Amino acid sequence: RKENNNIICDDLKEGEKRRIPNPVCKFEDVFEQYPDIMANIRKIGFQKPTPIQSQAWPIILQGIDLIGIAQTGTGKTLAYLMPGFIHLASQPIPKDERGGPGMLVLAPTRELALQVEAECLKYTYKGFKSICIYGGGDRKAQINVVTKGVDIVIATPGRLNDLQMNNFINLKSITYLVLDEADKMLDMGFEPQIMKILIDVRPDRQTVMTSATWPDGVRRLAKSYLRNPMIVYVGTLDL
Ligand code: ADP
Ligand code: MG
Repeated sequence: RKENNNIICDDLKEGEKRRIPNPVCKFEDVFEQYPDIMANIRKIGFQKPTPIQSQAWPIILQGIDLIGIAQTGTGKTLAYLMPGFIHLASQPIPKDERGGPGMLVLAPTRELALQVEAECLKYTYKGFKSICIYGGGDRKAQINVVTKGVDIVIATPGRLNDLQMNNFINLKSITYLVLDEADKMLDMGFEPQIMKILIDVRPDRQTVMTSATWPDGVRRLAKSYLRNPMIVYVGTLDL
């Protein structure tokens, strides 16, 4: 356990000590080798990484599973999206041979899923195609886009589970999984759908989970679906 400012980074791996990557202070510290990402950040005009980003980026980029706990509005979306883009771009299997999407973001509501997709489009990388799949949306149109081939799926658990059960989407190609706002997904009763979705997602994937709170249910979810995760808390938390 290491504290810097208001960040506490917990390393949960049992029996073996892992070095916790140092937080980054500048975007260049972590994305210097990725000029497209740097150009996008410059265009938007952000000054510096938010606390959760500065700690999460170097951890996720090392391939380590991460739990990021921080309030709403702290920049968690880009904390997992940027490394996700880099992850996808560095996969050994070319995307046309992958047979399905490489990244999946599960979010609790249609609004939140659409917000994530908007960020995805704004920071678009290497021409990756994304789709937002949510209940109430045009199911046929969603199936159509998925069939044509997408790299990134952002979805609410109910509708995705529906498409999965009816074999409209292959989840076996996913190597980068995000459970966004896990506490809210549990509050909304999505655990059974998440369980069914994750049966099809390969176990050697990298997983990132975000949450605003850290109650028992979220801990349980983390234990079931993340492998040796590091936890980054930002702000105060009753432990
Ligand atoms: P969260 O998921 O933690 O609730 P978001 O990812 O939605 O937060 O980010 C909240 C807002 O902060 C968004 O408008 C986003 O564009 C902006 N943002 C993200 N990263 C930075 C940054 N490094 N500097 C300034 N603003 C940022
Ligand atoms: Mg968010």
